[in-house]
Amino acid sequence: MTTDLNSSPLSGDQQARLGELLSGMNEGQLFWLAGFLAGKCAGGSANADAHTATAPTSAAAELTILFGSQTGNAEELAQQLAARAADKGVSAKVVDMADYKPKQLKKEQYLAVLTSTQGEGDPPDNALDFHEFINGKKAPKLEGLRYSVLSLGDSSYEHFCKTGQDFDSKLATLGATALAERVDCDVDYEDLAEDWINRVLETIAVEAGANQPAAANTAAAEQAPTSAFNRKNPYAAVILTNQLLSGRGSDKEVRHIELSLEDSGLAYKPGDALGIYPQNSPVLVSELLETLGFDGDQVVSADERDISLRDALAFYREITLLTPPLMKHWADLAEDNVLKAMVADSRELKAWTEGRDVLDLIQAWPVATLAPQELVNVLRKLPPRLYSISSSQAAVDDEVHITVAAVRYSSHGRDRQGVASGWLSDRMSEGDKVRVYIDPNKKFALPEDTAPVIMIGPGTGVAPFRAFLQEREERQAEGDNWLFFGDRRFRSDFLYQSEWLKWRRDGLLTRLDVAFSRDQTEKRYVQHCLEENSAEVWAWLQRGASLYVCGDADKMAPDVHQALLGIASKQGGLNQEQAEDYLRQLNRDKRYQRDVY
Ligand code: NAP
Repeated sequence: MTTDLNSSPLSGDQQARLGELLSGMNEGQLFWLAGFLAGKCAGGSANADAHTATAPTSAAAELTILFGSQTGNAEELAQQLAARAADKGVSAKVVDMADYKPKQLKKEQYLAVLTSTQGEGDPPDNALDFHEFINGKKAPKLEGLRYSVLSLGDSSYEHFCKTGQDFDSKLATLGATALAERVDCDVDYEDLAEDWINRVLETIAVEAGANQPAAANTAAAEQAPTSAFNRKNPYAAVILTNQLLSGRGSDKEVRHIELSLEDSGLAYKPGDALGIYPQNSPVLVSELLETLGFDGDQVVSADERDISLRDALAFYREITLLTPPLMKHWADLAEDNVLKAMVADSRELKAWTEGRDVLDLIQAWPVATLAPQELVNVLRKLPPRLYSISSSQAAVDDEVHITVAAVRYSSHGRDRQGVASGWLSDRMSEGDKVRVYIDPNKKFALPEDTAPVIMIGPGTGVAPFRAFLQEREERQAEGDNWLFFGDRRFRSDFLYQSEWLKWRRDGLLTRLDVAFSRDQTEKRYVQHCLEENSAEVWAWLQRGASLYVCGDADKMAPDVHQALLGIASKQGGLNQEQAEDYLRQLNRDKRYQRDVY
């Protein structure tokens, strides 16, 4: 910060004393003083003690909270930050990045950016435009801005938290200064996020002298939870039904599971997901303990509980995935140079860890001196798994339904299974309890009742569309509904076939197009159906249809995107760039929503 005292109305002596005072101050103190003086000028009775000063009111501290969110976690944290800001006397507003006017950036005083990162290091859909803007030529100088970034990610991915890092470095390059250091959170983000929220608000409160509770920040107030149960305090839901959905002869195992939410107060909307805390395979846990030479009865501390090592590994720690941070810790524990060299080479590390788990690691690089608590400390918390909800609460009251494909595969000479899908399929029966919470997803919500919807959901990606149709049936929504479903074989994999056909007969489902990939020699996928119907898909879009895509993020979602670009080009006469713009605009208008992973 530069200060020109020569042009001030102060006397020489006053200038000298002020210059001396300012030169000894750090940045935080300078910001506090600015707020203090602003309050003084506004007529308040400011005194020298920041914590008792009444002058710099909440109006002196305006915090804009931007979120980039795919599944809703960053958005929820943004709301928490806003609610807590009110307690600190900081007035805050929460803005979806998709709705943010970039021109506003120059006018911001305090900015908090909360964002997740998608698979290959990409921003979430609602952050694409702002990410592009801030990295483009039009991004303004931001010298006066104070900011901080919270990034959410998954350390098992190579580009862990990249979008948050991009925002952080770009804001700094543009001249903004950090209020609090960026925090990169792994899947167990709660404690780190809580710390970051505290640090951001403490700094703002000190700098701006804001210490009185402000009127509740409106965006936060709207989010008041209605149930005592949430991600931190899950509800033990009883399984009412756990039945095989895929038919005889299928080479997949897909299950339809119904759970009771009775008396939980939990509410959900079509498009939301159910968070489930799974349990690791007891066989794998026993193999691990045996290899380590532990009987499992040793008491350890995990997530603030004193429990047996066996329970810690079964319920609280991830043992089926080898993340780069775990590998780095292990290389240090093993003091092995070969492992250290491998960890330093991200490609080599990825090649070795793929398809391997903690048992493979311990067998390949035993650590003779490993203590039970040390093992618990290096392992990541077992994160909950999200399943798209396949029911509408309007139709099933206090039940919630999910559609689960059992993940089973063999790698490096051993049979393996997905943690949650294996547990739900093999070891959970009707009457058993599952710890659950609702993970709201505002980015995958039905439009108004009169708007047409086009739903594209191959495999278990069809789950939320069952919820959509149940909801529209209950609401007697007039909008047309078109489902594109794809799976391997018509005879065994037409998930919820009788329900779609009934809705088709009743007229709720205006159109149903299916692609069974393995019923003929050539692969046939949902995007082929889209292309074959391109004139009609375009006509539906012209009359305001909303597009929804759910399922695989790696191949299906990009291929469907390409097909949609093709339709915009062919039917709308748009060139490649215009077609991209068209889909971007649909996304901004919340008419192209994806729930893919
Ligand atoms: P799946 O059997 O893996 O795939 C379903 C159908 O999609 C099969 O017919 C498959 O054909 C076909 N397919 C393969 N590649 C495709 C491509 N590039 N474009 C279009 N279709 C393609 O189905 P699943 O086991 O039910 O799982 C579907 C995927 O969705 C999984 O990755 C799952 O994790 C994900 N999922 C995500 C969500 C969510 O984001 N909320 C919800 C549910 C499921 P072939 O196998 O014959 O090639």
